[in-house]
Amino acid sequence: MDIKLEQVEHLYMAGTPFEKKALKEINVEIPSGSFTAVIGHTGSGKSTFIQHLNGLLKPTKGTVQVGSFVIKAGEKFTDYKSLRQKVGMVFQYPEHQLFEETVRKDICFGPRNFGMSEQLAEERMMEILPKVGLDESLLESSPFQLSGGQMRRVAIAGVLVSLPEVLVLDEPTAGLDPEGRETMLDLFARYHQEHDTTTILITHQMEDAARYADYFIVLDQGKVEMVGTRDEIFRQVDKLRGFGLSLPEEVEFLYAFKEKFSLTDDELYYDLDNV
Ligand code: ADP
Repeated sequence: MDIKLEQVEHLYMAGTPFEKKALKEINVEIPSGSFTAVIGHTGSGKSTFIQHLNGLLKPTKGTVQVGSFVIKAGEKFTDYKSLRQKVGMVFQYPEHQLFEETVRKDICFGPRNFGMSEQLAEERMMEILPKVGLDESLLESSPFQLSGGQMRRVAIAGVLVSLPEVLVLDEPTAGLDPEGRETMLDLFARYHQEHDTTTILITHQMEDAARYADYFIVLDQGKVEMVGTRDEIFRQVDKLRGFGLSLPEEVEFLYAFKEKFSLTDDELYYDLDNV
């Protein structure tokens, strides 16, 4: 699904002394089928940005378009249920949102809420379980008896079971060690490929962004400062550094050579896949 934001602004606590403009004049498109990383410093507006994609937040100004859904500032939008079925969102520490008595009920909560038949929800759940690395034998357990890693997988299964066309991931690997991060991101990368999803990942880990994403949006102080393919973005090392972003180790390594041999960004050009 194509995603387009036009002249989007978001004000928190508008009209109060605490008013905060978290997004300013955002004009950006996210290509359908891309694996897009949204990167930027803490407080740059990443979470605010992605919450506009499933209507959790409405723009104070401008228009958000997700496929055929159009959310316009000042205009009523009512189709939240269909939008949220198409746009799945995995928040930080998604396991904190588990609440049902059993794993089965928790995974099927979304589809039931979206009006899917029990039978179809069950079929989808059985398809998704191995993809998230969960065993059927856990279905009747309480999610709260599981390990932290398993709980997170249950929460993710509960999002994927609705087969979202857009998958938004807000730091889904928070709190995991490097191996856990890789396993989790591999899972999303596989889902992305198999289902031709548009995937949007917020991450602090530039290594992960460089490894999994093919398209980048760099936010700084509520503005989109850079947009482009992975190579286009990582060619502009100086600019990225200017936004205080820690670069992937590979880029830091090349950067050291850049300074030493006075190379231009073009001369520094490389394909990350070959690093
Ligand atoms: P990021 O995800 O990049 O860390 P956020 O989107 O969370 O950034 O925040 C952007 C700005 O908006 C920050 O200055 C933050 O303090 C502010 N902000 C975020 N959420 C709220 C809120 N609910 N009320 C008021 N200000 C907020």
